[in-house]
Amino acid sequence: MPNLAQIEHNSPTFDRGIGLYVHVPFCQTKCPYCDFNTYVGIEDQIPLYVTALTSELNGWGNLLSKPPVRTIFLGGGTPSYLPIDALESILRTIRSSFRISRSAEITLECNPGDVTIEKATSWISSGVNRISLGIQSFDDGLLSLLGRRHTALDANQAFWALRSVGFLNQSIDLIYGLPYQTIEQWSDTLDQAISLEPEHISLYSLQIEKGTPLAVDVITGRYPVPDDDLAADMYEHAQQRLDENGFTQYEISNWAKAGMESQHNLIYWLNEPYLGVGPGAHSWLAGQRFANLKSPRRYTTLVGKQYEIVGLDPVATMTSPAGPVEQVDITTPAIDVAETMMMGMRLNEGVTHQRFEERFGVGIDIVFPEEIARLLQLELIEVTDTAVQLSERGRLLGNEVFAEFLGTGD
Ligand code: SF4
Repeated sequence: MPNLAQIEHNSPTFDRGIGLYVHVPFCQTKCPYCDFNTYVGIEDQIPLYVTALTSELNGWGNLLSKPPVRTIFLGGGTPSYLPIDALESILRTIRSSFRISRSAEITLECNPGDVTIEKATSWISSGVNRISLGIQSFDDGLLSLLGRRHTALDANQAFWALRSVGFLNQSIDLIYGLPYQTIEQWSDTLDQAISLEPEHISLYSLQIEKGTPLAVDVITGRYPVPDDDLAADMYEHAQQRLDENGFTQYEISNWAKAGMESQHNLIYWLNEPYLGVGPGAHSWLAGQRFANLKSPRRYTTLVGKQYEIVGLDPVATMTSPAGPVEQVDITTPAIDVAETMMMGMRLNEGVTHQRFEERFGVGIDIVFPEEIARLLQLELIEVTDTAVQLSERGRLLGNEVFAEFLGTGD
């Protein structure tokens, strides 16, 4: 149990700027492993979605007095699937409702199958300056198993098309630990990704999410149960190859060239404030975690008819009948310290003593003496002069460390 006796609980303010996440719930096809809040065959709702999103963005801009924003992330779903005019309209609304810093990182999640010179040109003209490209694999057989609608050749062409219009900050997503995937196939995919010379690479191990078609295929024996040992070998192989090629690992799943770390995701890992807009988006603002209603149809039907202003609490207003917020969780000091540790330990630098003391007014070792002793004994963490961080072994067993700080471990 953490010792919370001396802790000061100051919710982070947003003077330094918030992160803004925009959820786009549309995909052209549904990948069998995906359990995100995203849908196919509802493209007829895109105009209504843009109208509701505009209303939500304007609402938050007014209620928070046009707050400063230092990162924008358009994710989903497939934001690159949106028609050009829809995306341009969303970015225009963001600029009129929020104060966007000059150096703001503006990321668009992109499916290689959507990239055309015309679309890429409109994205860069609208201010998008970072692309997160969902390549996943350079093996056409595995791409087909994943239900992706692009080939390795499409991925290559998309990357170079984006470069040609001026995108100088591109991140590539890859997945490993796939059914039937060999270490040789994985190594080849990594080599092809490295040869493109992107600025950033994210690697995810395949998770079999309950209720997805892939989970059914594993349960019924159509596909083998994922081999955790092989996935760990693939991870270690990637660490070595990326390190040899000038990428620095800065988070469990993320590598970057110098200075090209994802500023938006750093806001999450440092447990700093962000606002999520769109169906099912989550936020962490003014000491409250809250989530929007999930269904795109309900979102487009209900949101923005006429907000009823409720007192001085903007979240309460957005929870009113025409507001998007469906669920609010008050964050207690115990939750805040645990989440700060859980998120921060994902970073290679770990949770710095300085950052923790500035936020909570007391040292990490005072709040978590027993947890730290246990994790040190298990050689899952290291405590240095500057930080508490995962050990090499801890990086492979991160969930055990996070559970300890959340108080849900054994
Ligand atoms: S494209 Fe992405 S969000 Fe859409 S179904 Fe596939 S994995 Fe899910």
